[in-house]
Amino acid sequence: MPLKTPAQYVQSLRDLQIRAYVNGERVESIVDHPAIAPHINTVAKTYELAHQLEHRDVMTVESHLTGDRIHRYTHIFQNADDLVKKIQMLRLLGQTTGTCFQRCVGLDALNALYAITYDIDAGEGTDYHERFKKYLVRVQASDLMLAGAMTDPKGHRALRPGQQPDPDQFVRIVDRRDDGVVIRGAKLHNTGGINSHEILVMPGTGLKEDERDYAVACAVAADAEGVVFIFGRQSNDSRKLEGGCDIGNPRFGVVGGEAMVVFDDVFVPNEHVFLNGQTQYCGSLVNYFATWHRANYGGCKGGNADVLIGATAKMTKVLGTEKSSVVRDKLTEMIQMNETTYASAIGASAMGYALPCGSFMVEPMMANTVKHNITRNVYQIGRLSHDLAGGFLATMPGQKSFDNPEIAPYVEKYHQANPEYETQERVKLGRYIENMTSVTTMVEAMHGAGSPQAQRIAMLGQADIDKKIKMAEAVIHGKDDVPGLPLPGKDK
Ligand code: SF4
Repeated sequence: MPLKTPAQYVQSLRDLQIRAYVNGERVESIVDHPAIAPHINTVAKTYELAHQLEHRDVMTVESHLTGDRIHRYTHIFQNADDLVKKIQMLRLLGQTTGTCFQRCVGLDALNALYAITYDIDAGEGTDYHERFKKYLVRVQASDLMLAGAMTDPKGHRALRPGQQPDPDQFVRIVDRRDDGVVIRGAKLHNTGGINSHEILVMPGTGLKEDERDYAVACAVAADAEGVVFIFGRQSNDSRKLEGGCDIGNPRFGVVGGEAMVVFDDVFVPNEHVFLNGQTQYCGSLVNYFATWHRANYGGCKGGNADVLIGATAKMTKVLGTEKSSVVRDKLTEMIQMNETTYASAIGASAMGYALPCGSFMVEPMMANTVKHNITRNVYQIGRLSHDLAGGFLATMPGQKSFDNPEIAPYVEKYHQANPEYETQERVKLGRYIENMTSVTTMVEAMHGAGSPQAQRIAMLGQADIDKKIKMAEAVIHGKDDVPGLPLPGKDK
């Protein structure tokens, strides 16, 4: 079945024996756990929209391998239009869920592995690419939810993987067998991993020749023996369990349900191993993945910001301030920042170029610029939202105050603003703004797809400063003007 329904996705998770822990406790069924269910519901939207005719062109695409209509989340980018449609898909999903919908990490990992397996085969005469294509056909046919796992714990930051006092601080191969490899280690901040079918494990850094055991990329079933998920805490996560007006985003998660995933001596059969010891390709693999993922943020955060701007605008109506020119100006500034990053992501996609394997890469400078601007704009948009929503955000009453008849009349009376709106509506909007501008959300925007410094290094590396110096010299000292014009500096 190339396109799963939401119900099939949920059932397929039930069929897995995932070993997961939330708040230190073993979870019997991830689908039935209230901390995980909102994240599952978010991913279910990616499946749902693919069945809607109006979104067919954005959410689905023809497989270049089989010709079947598949989910865009399992597709290899074939041209610039595919890259543009991906950004459009992310904005649509961001607008629909108001949060991170998780599947993009697996998508970009699929594309990175498709490209790097081709490069390795071309350089080393191996057969990883054919192996990967067989895997990809299965992923597309089953419409799998994939998680990408790249970030190692890293231990002592000044030491390379092989120098760590604990060698497991980077995922590594601890045994090479005829039929596969055994891996050990952990990956952090794993978006959507806990509710994925499979995890695409990749190295998190470039490696040196003597770091062969750390050079491993492979697909691991989420319920493979030795895989353990430890769900991270999020700001305000316990509100989800309380109900009422305190939840914020009641149906969907806050960011991507990130977890630590432990690989405690996990066996991976050869057909799921896509890089084994080729250290010289690890840097390119990381770069492929990061560049695609950095452009994404102009789409997904754009959609999220649309919802945040909407919540903030509605809050101004609840307060009765919506007609103020100052308020309208601040909303305009939020919109301007949001559209700027979206436009950059569309630009990076439209300027994409073909890789040796035939798939398409976004324009790297613009992609890095998108992500770098997001690390600022999400905070700045949040700041303006706080500004317009007022100090109430920090002191709002909770559901229990509305439930206690002794104080409910006071809470209702003294927190009501524009009488056209119920007081609890003001709290619900405030809680949503609080969710979307709280620590977890902001930090994800800062560090997801690489910290700001990683983008700065990439931007400077791609900027070709020497070329810009030559441009400046040509403008200032050039003598190639049309003869006969009375240019004041022509003889200088
Ligand atoms: Fe997708 Fe954005 Fe979440 Fe990354 S942060 S997985 S691009 S929604």
